[in-house]
Amino acid sequence: ESQKGQKILEFRKSLPAYKEKDAILSSIANNQVVIISGETGCGKTTQIPQFILESEIESIRGSMCSIICTQPRRISAISVSERVAAERGELLGETVGYKVRLEGVKGRDTHLLFCTTGILLRRLLVDKNLKGVTHVIIDEVHERGMNEDFLLIVLKDLLPRRPELRLILMSATLDAELFSSYFGRAPMLHIPGFTYPVRTHFLENVLEMTGYRLTPYNQVDDYGLEKLWKMNKQAPRKRKSQIVSAVEDALRAADFKDYSAQTQESLSCWNPDCIGFNLVEYLLNYICQNERPGAVLVFMTGWDDISALKEKLQGHPIMGDTNQVLLLTCHGSMASSEQRLIFDKAEDGVRKIVLATNIAETSITIDDVVFVIDCGKAKETSYDALNNTPCLLPSWISKVSAKQRRGRAGRVQPGECYHLYPRCVYDAFADYQLPEILRTPLQSLCLQIKSLKLGSISEFLSRALQSPELLAVQNAIEYLKVIGALDENENLTVLGRYLTMLPMEPKFGKMLVLGAIFYCLDPILTIVSGLSVRDPFLSPLEKKDLAEAAKAQFSHDYSDHLALVRAYEGWKDAERDLAGYEYCSKNFLSAQSMKAIDSLRKEFYLLLKDTGLVDSNPTTYNTWSYDEHLLRAVICYGLYPGICSVVPNEKSFALKTMEDGQVLLYSNSVNARDKIPYPWLVFNEKIKVNSIFLRDSTAVCDSVLLLFGGSFSKVDMGGHIKMLGGYLEFFMS
Ligand code: ADP
Ligand code: MG
Repeated sequence: ESQKGQKILEFRKSLPAYKEKDAILSSIANNQVVIISGETGCGKTTQIPQFILESEIESIRGSMCSIICTQPRRISAISVSERVAAERGELLGETVGYKVRLEGVKGRDTHLLFCTTGILLRRLLVDKNLKGVTHVIIDEVHERGMNEDFLLIVLKDLLPRRPELRLILMSATLDAELFSSYFGRAPMLHIPGFTYPVRTHFLENVLEMTGYRLTPYNQVDDYGLEKLWKMNKQAPRKRKSQIVSAVEDALRAADFKDYSAQTQESLSCWNPDCIGFNLVEYLLNYICQNERPGAVLVFMTGWDDISALKEKLQGHPIMGDTNQVLLLTCHGSMASSEQRLIFDKAEDGVRKIVLATNIAETSITIDDVVFVIDCGKAKETSYDALNNTPCLLPSWISKVSAKQRRGRAGRVQPGECYHLYPRCVYDAFADYQLPEILRTPLQSLCLQIKSLKLGSISEFLSRALQSPELLAVQNAIEYLKVIGALDENENLTVLGRYLTMLPMEPKFGKMLVLGAIFYCLDPILTIVSGLSVRDPFLSPLEKKDLAEAAKAQFSHDYSDHLALVRAYEGWKDAERDLAGYEYCSKNFLSAQSMKAIDSLRKEFYLLLKDTGLVDSNPTTYNTWSYDEHLLRAVICYGLYPGICSVVPNEKSFALKTMEDGQVLLYSNSVNARDKIPYPWLVFNEKIKVNSIFLRDSTAVCDSVLLLFGGSFSKVDMGGHIKMLGGYLEFFMS
């Protein structure tokens, strides 16, 4: 035991943060706000909270301290607390604990709590002054997540009221200036790091080195691409993002005349809209065969292309051989058992390959990486205030991100980084990524501002580190009024207050509330969970027709949402007979998504129970679960104003929304057919990919729509639905 303890102590002492321990502690003692920056892996997250904890325990104050350290992602809150407890030779829940949504370990003696930023915000709801808290550490501030930016405004207001409270901001990049001036020139500390040199290869060098040939075809074959290309043809491009135009300009101006004819030809075929899976596969194979030992870290855009690439690689002769290659994935929704494997060193002669999202850029350090492959993109939610449409698209990363990714290769020895885009494209990248508050819808944020009683929304947001556009703020307030969460004077309604207790998009929260008060909760839980996970209906390109036919059997009534409910209920029955897996493959459903829905349903139910809207008696809250008219009304009322009209024409129909004019349906929607015998479709999401596409829709008739005009009494529906009106009027007041 003590030998193990000794080893850990030695390891801790070897981290760059350790040398700065005294400087860090004295700076914190003498200043209310301190900003600490340092290379990823230097020991900020695991060490600095421990330094504070240890010095507080040794000091005369004894064990009175209460340190809260926030993490932007739930997975890092959990894994960091496990790691820190292990370093201290303790179990979780002794001095170190964690808390994330609906989950946590914390004991009487816990003085250091890792939590998500959302958890700290919820605590502020009931405990404005953070009574008893001695230190707040906000980690990964450089990510500039919306919650973190929001928290900074709140804490800035709190600091004068709590002069003994300490605030420590930690960042992986050198953007400390910005934070320092926000907090009245707070001191900045930098932990000098050490990384070995990393050789950088851009696409042109990769092509020269490996001899790989790019053709228009080997990029089109890639997963999911066919769809994108079809859409390109269907619709003319709309507003292009600045960065996309900059990249196109750079490519047009580029000249690669110092490279071989083959490389030049390849580069002329390079498609910036696509991640070259074939190229990644080829390069991995090249590294396995030609390069020295060392783990490979591949940066992909998201969970879906990671799993698609994993599947592809498993069929490869080298990768398929598990004795030579250990293929792992690293993303926000991985299981913690899988996560532990990432930190383990591979055995001799085994090449560890980790397919990761940008979570591995700064929040998770994999020590033995020598090779980094960077596809140059990350999935980013963005928001176009002009047409009020959120988009989730892979977009080019910033120069800072590219540098972070490269740095991952030089932790243990000199490394190599392969950027799968030409140098000139890198030069066109923005220096930093736009903060989330400037690029995503602000609805949840506005609700939070209201629930914390922080006064006028726009006045409050004008005090942010960087304030969002006025138009974006107005859109959000308008939306909250339309859905009945805010009244005319921007005050929370009853519904609004319930929504602040449900940490999710307001429309999902609203649907759950409706499901609960109208006693049809089970199917609504399924719908909201289903909309929060990856589309469970699979549509492999080569078996598209079969997949569509499979989906059609769940969807005789023009509703993607009800189709989801039926598919889930079928799966649940099959699962009871241990045949869930067969059921999924027969019906082209993702078993993983079904399981995710299952666990989210439980989570959402618990959240609702916390609000007091449901009790533990499923017969009560499911009294009307099989009434499809009611379900349709709840879906419609929950998704409003996501609505478009169905305009029949000679051949089939066109879809129109008030703000956008014509919109299109994703081809896997059950409503993507010749006729819809209803005047309206409600949808939960519209996404801009060149054109505006609707995902998941349900057809509704006029009478359901009347609900929104407040003319509830005119609605002619079944007996119990008449009650709707009265309830709704109450909830929106
Ligand atoms: P930073 O926050 O500065 O990026 P961390 O404190 O997260 O750095 O990590 C410091 C070092 O601790 C890492 O370089 C890594 O070697 C090690 N480490 C962190 N978490 C784990 C873990 N869960 N398992 C094994 N080693 C870890
Ligand atoms: Mg960290």
